[in-house]
Amino acid sequence: MILFISDLHLSFDKPQITHHFIHFLQTKAKQAKSVYILGDLFDAWVGDDDFTYPNAQIRHELKKLTDSGVKVYFQRGNRDFLIGDRFAHETGVILLEDYVVIELEGEKTLLTHGDLLCSDDLAYQTFRVKSRALEWQQNVLSKPLWLRLLAARWYRLRSFLHKQKKSHYVMDVNQNTVENVMQKYQCTRLIHGHTHQPALHKFQLNGKKAQRFVLSDWNNQGGEVLIW
Ligand code: MN
Repeated sequence: MILFISDLHLSFDKPQITHHFIHFLQTKAKQAKSVYILGDLFDAWVGDDDFTYPNAQIRHELKKLTDSGVKVYFQRGNRDFLIGDRFAHETGVILLEDYVVIELEGEKTLLTHGDLLCSDDLAYQTFRVKSRALEWQQNVLSKPLWLRLLAARWYRLRSFLHKQKKSHYVMDVNQNTVENVMQKYQCTRLIHGHTHQPALHKFQLNGKKAQRFVLSDWNNQGGEVLIW
């Protein structure tokens, strides 16, 4: 059993989701061969030195799971892209690149968080390029923790306000980008999150049947898991 989740957006002000996630780690996830977390596990991540709630608890529970032999893979999202080697070392999770191909029942399957597929959101893509530069990240991480936490709250508020203005079209994936990326990695199946629009899209790709699984975000009521 291979499990896929994404977009839990764990944060200090949503303890119910943390509760659901810890329950998931202690039950369903323990029975799995591997768990893929496809980004935005955390609503914000300001550095691996941040142990404020719920980060310390989550680290502890992830470590228990990986110690029990379950492989946990982690792809960074647009909210938790600053997760680094220290987090991986302390939890035992394996960090993945932005695009990864795995075999699922003999079919090559592409995994990605999904933000790169939203290529119509030019403002975001510009920020993404800037914020993935080593120099930018070193500059941010060199600031004191309290300042980074304050900045993260400001960023969340700003992102919330911006989202109200952006159209549904801009916030969703671009189908051309989806097809180009799937062709580049020679996959007919894609699994991603990010858009919070869970679905299974079926389409033709070079005369072959292709599938795009979109994972669900989690909320106070719980979360959906894609079970393979
Ligand atoms: Mn996202």
